[in-house]
Amino acid sequence: MKFGTKALHAGIEPEPITGAIMTPIFQTSTYVQEGLGKHKGYEYARTQNPTRTVLEKNLAALENGQYGLCFASGMAATDAVGKLLKTGDEIIACDDLYGGTYRIFTKVFESFGIHTKFVSMEDPASISAHITPQTKLIWAETPTNPLLNLIDIEAVAKVAKQHGVMLCVDNTFASPYLQNPLDWGADIVMHSATKYLGGHSDVVMGALITNREDLHQRLAFIQNACGAVPSPNDCFLVLRGIKTLHIRMDRHSENGRAVAQYLSQHPKVGKVYWIGLPTHKNHAIALKQMRNFGGMVSFTLKEDTMQNAQRVMESFEVFALGESLGGVESLCTHPATMTHASIPKEQREKNGLKDTLIRLSVGIEDVEDLIADLAQAIG
Ligand SMILES: *Cc1c(COP(=O)(O)O)cnc(C)c1O
Repeated sequence: MKFGTKALHAGIEPEPITGAIMTPIFQTSTYVQEGLGKHKGYEYARTQNPTRTVLEKNLAALENGQYGLCFASGMAATDAVGKLLKTGDEIIACDDLYGGTYRIFTKVFESFGIHTKFVSMEDPASISAHITPQTKLIWAETPTNPLLNLIDIEAVAKVAKQHGVMLCVDNTFASPYLQNPLDWGADIVMHSATKYLGGHSDVVMGALITNREDLHQRLAFIQNACGAVPSPNDCFLVLRGIKTLHIRMDRHSENGRAVAQYLSQHPKVGKVYWIGLPTHKNHAIALKQMRNFGGMVSFTLKEDTMQNAQRVMESFEVFALGESLGGVESLCTHPATMTHASIPKEQREKNGLKDTLIRLSVGIEDVEDLIADLAQAIG
């Protein structure tokens, strides 16, 4: 089955009593059992919920994985991966990370004696030098947020395999439509389903997908034991969002291209970051592991002052100023004070993230209106 067909049908059956084509929202906390130990596979709704089960199967299919698990948020999914580790273990993470991921690694896992080294993964072979017998997890995010650097997943997976370390890839920015990390050798794919998977800015959720039964068993145990599960209603919303993922991503990519091209030739714009531009430093990796380039575009202004960046961000009329990304409507984010405020300024600047960088999540509006909005805001 091809992607669009899987998005609509994988793991989804008509409801058996009525034939309802939409997966029902099983808003229940428990299930009546016929006798002691006699039940239909559902005992308690933290452990299993039919709406969630359908979504988990669907997500697994979209990532070409065997097993999917959903969590109350992207961070709860990341937390579950961290709980595969124990005191004394180490993580190697890429140095250009989502702020919340940096925060959980440095402020939560660290206090349980799990240390994270943040390294550049631009040259995957160089990761080997950081691996010790304590290294249990490599964490990569590609494309990265907000600088849109790319990491060669296949090359990092090779290093991970050589050293017997598991690799988890945060695939939030790409979505399964643009990139499938398991196909390149990753052990676990993580998603913030809050973003492109949900796609309508109305839900917070996370997911993990794997092909490894051992990892799935342990993660399912953690999901139930720690209990950060999503509500059945939220599972319904993400299932509905996924039905249009492929057409939304095509439009995000198309609009992303037009916006990046417009900004690239604008006399008042400084640097433009969009992975589909042939001038992007990692464009070759994008061509290798991605099917299209998405709607995330970051840029700076030639007059590179905070005052000027703020003026532009506050002048948008169609692009809404706010955190998050991946929804149908266009958003403008200021990473330094919003998504990446939890990373110290010194560390941000070391990673090349200037306080004046503006990040756009290009939505699926008519692109002429988006370009006109950029034109009037930049002035
Ligand atoms: C939003 C996001 C997360 C965290 O997900 P939540 O659903 O907000 O908890 C993790 N990684 C990336 C790349 C994100 O954009």
